[in-house]
Amino acid sequence: MVLRNALLAASGSGRLRAAVERSAAARSMVRRFIAGEEADDAVRTVGELAGQGLLATVDRLGEDVGHPAAAEEAVRGYLGLLERLDDAGLTGAAEVSVKPSAVGLALGPEGGALARAGLDRICAAAAEVGTTVTLDMEDEAAVEPTLGLLRALRERHPSLGVAVQSYLRRTEDDVRALAAQRVRVRLVKGAYAPDPERAHTARRDVDAAYVRCLRTLMAGEAYPMVATHDPRLIGIARALAARYGRDRKGYELQMIYGARPDEQLRLAAAGERMRVYVPYGRDWYGYLLRRLAERPANVGFAARSLATR
Ligand code: FAD
Repeated sequence: MVLRNALLAASGSGRLRAAVERSAAARSMVRRFIAGEEADDAVRTVGELAGQGLLATVDRLGEDVGHPAAAEEAVRGYLGLLERLDDAGLTGAAEVSVKPSAVGLALGPEGGALARAGLDRICAAAAEVGTTVTLDMEDEAAVEPTLGLLRALRERHPSLGVAVQSYLRRTEDDVRALAAQRVRVRLVKGAYAPDPERAHTARRDVDAAYVRCLRTLMAGEAYPMVATHDPRLIGIARALAARYGRDRKGYELQMIYGARPDEQLRLAAAGERMRVYVPYGRDWYGYLLRRLAERPANVGFAARSLATR
């Protein structure tokens, strides 16, 4: 927990960022978890995954943009990505994931309107090529505004989905509200550092909340997207889907590119809809630190590279 919090705090540190970016070990982690720097790299990866029977959701890396021009660049990046996926005939196999802060959500009082306008364009472009958009869920401050964006945008874009985090106590109520609608809901444990007063901090409590949310989603009207690498929770999700009479098209499993790739293939071969979260782009630092924070086994390199600085 101490290491996890240190890594999450480091995701905001410029000095550490420079050190990590210089590290050869970090670059090898980047190759494992990130499809490449350009949209074409992501499209190639989606094609390879599709050839193996896997679906994808593509994330253009970048978050907490500091200026409206960067938010506009992110929107255009997504529009270009969707065009390339369409040209490659891959929109049946891939959708896109967007961090609201990448399209301006955190840019002061105007941020909400800016993000909404940008997401409206991305959702419209996605619908045009026959695919969907899911909103990632970021830190605690973003939760209410992100759910507000979902509500506002779903009027015009009913297929818009959202991620929710079981480590937040409020999420069980959020999930109950979402389960009553036909929303695509990606359930995750949560990758940020929420205030312990408003979050479950013990792993078993986060997992127990995950199971309660899963049950609500599987029993309700929403489309559950079960995003975890945790074999126990995947087993529970599959059992709940069967109990509530959902066929294999009635939910999907999701994992991150580079995490448990053999298990991804095994589940797809067993007939599950298995979607891989594929990030691409140059702004990989925050994303990589969150992956490290989740998996202590990957942290050795970070400690070694930083100990020398
Ligand atoms: P953990 O508690 O990390 O792991 C449980 C068990 O799973 C481990 O004990 C181990 O047995 C197994 N396991 C986990 N990882 C591996 C591995 N790499 N190799 C082998 N075994 C492994 N978080 C957000 O806050 N917002 C989001 O929008 C968001 N989107 C996500 C989208 C997807 C598709 C996924 C998969 C995750 C997303 N996350 C997001 C991250 C999420 O919140 C967790 O931090 C992350 O998934 C790690 O938690 P876990 O459920 O995999 O289980």
